[in-house]
Amino acid sequence: MQYISTRGGVPASTYTEIVLQGLARDGGLFVPKEYPQVSLETLNSWRGLSYAQLATAVISLFAKDLNRSTVARLCESTYTEETYCQGRPDSDFKKITPLVWLEKDLGILELSNGPTLAFKDMAMQYLGALFEYILGKSEGELNILGATSGDTGSAAEYAMKGRKGIRVFMLSPAERMSQFQRAQMYSLNEENIFNIAVKGNFDDCQDIVKKISADLEYKKSRHIGAVNSINWARVAAQVVYYFSGWLQATNSETEKVSFAVPSGNFGDVLAGWIAKKMGLPIDKLIVATNENDVLYEFFRTGRYRIRDAEHTFVTSSPSMDISKASNFERYVFDIVGRDANRVCELWHELDVNKEFMLTASEWQTVRESGMVASRSTHEDRLNCIREVWEKHQFLVDPHTADGINAARQFQDGNSKIICLETALPTKFAHTIHEALGFNPPIPEVYEDLLSREQRVIERENDIEQIKAFLDEKLGL
Ligand SMILES: *Cc1c(COP(=O)(O)O)cnc(C)c1O
Repeated sequence: MQYISTRGGVPASTYTEIVLQGLARDGGLFVPKEYPQVSLETLNSWRGLSYAQLATAVISLFAKDLNRSTVARLCESTYTEETYCQGRPDSDFKKITPLVWLEKDLGILELSNGPTLAFKDMAMQYLGALFEYILGKSEGELNILGATSGDTGSAAEYAMKGRKGIRVFMLSPAERMSQFQRAQMYSLNEENIFNIAVKGNFDDCQDIVKKISADLEYKKSRHIGAVNSINWARVAAQVVYYFSGWLQATNSETEKVSFAVPSGNFGDVLAGWIAKKMGLPIDKLIVATNENDVLYEFFRTGRYRIRDAEHTFVTSSPSMDISKASNFERYVFDIVGRDANRVCELWHELDVNKEFMLTASEWQTVRESGMVASRSTHEDRLNCIREVWEKHQFLVDPHTADGINAARQFQDGNSKIICLETALPTKFAHTIHEALGFNPPIPEVYEDLLSREQRVIERENDIEQIKAFLDEKLGL
């Protein structure tokens, strides 16, 4: 299988070539030339598989230049009960992503029982194993430089810790993260993980990463890479749990299921779109947004109007506080008939005017695509957390609550909707307390988290100081 760019300006490449890269050199995103197809017969034959076997079957379709036995080894070492049993104590860990039914037509796919208690572990843990394998073959090294305001940074660190050939330099805004998130990252005591607290906000951290990455000479000589949500290996690994959710929800291969997906950078719901394009019988993909409702506006009107950081609200589902969804371009590429010139045109318009509007026929394609959206407010979130707790004694985090709230708007008493659980409530205790008047339980592995010793390097909001620190650690 070959990968091409959504902007059409780079030669076709293989899976192992693109997974260590971020953006394609033409500014586009890598996508498979064609989506692999899974027949209903094959789908049915996957019913008895373990999660690791299912992941092997799905990821192999995308990783054509790796031996199937290599993919199997990576998946078997990644998707283990030991790694994914750290969240809800009463979960069915053997399934890795157990589906629990709140109502006969509303299920929650548990994706947050991994090491950092958020769904990002599902793909990031696999990425760690994959990178170590690829680097090991070429005796290469990779220095991952990132900025985080919470979930991504910790998922990356827990996936990369102790991996040969890999170091992680993670910038975070000092004093701006939740107590739990801070403790989760800063308590890691690993030789290849460097937490750098920058005196500034998340945008300042992000700016430093962007500037360093734009210096191609520096980037190349220091083997700097990223693990952000546009990484294809992450997206492909996320496709797996849509198959898992569907297989758990159905008995017959023709039954359609809808998914509600708390969304920010559009990576999670894009994986659902790809699963659907591969032939998985998905009815609707419901994009759940919070007050940062750029995608909600798009799916109502065909108009995509991004906002800058200043006009992005700080909400109680913070991991969805995004007003420019980095993976959205991959979906639009499909909508415009995979016409790279049209994508260039639209994204040029976006650069200049901060918005674009689809043509009537493109908009028609969106409406027929089965993707719809919903918006939740802080009040909706609190009400949903309360309602689900009172009705079902099930505790959901604020992001998952946005997903359930979205699912509610499309529930017809007939077809099944699965809401993806994107984090555990303990990560956002403050909002749970506001909704219910008590703190969520802390999983056993993290009981002593807040009292663990924390290690963090402090630096000014100054690119030269960060570069100097990197060079020192790289022995330059
Ligand atoms: C990252 C994240 C999201 C958003 O996922 P995208 O793939 O960026 O759309 C939602 N909820 C939580 C808890 C997250 O960490």
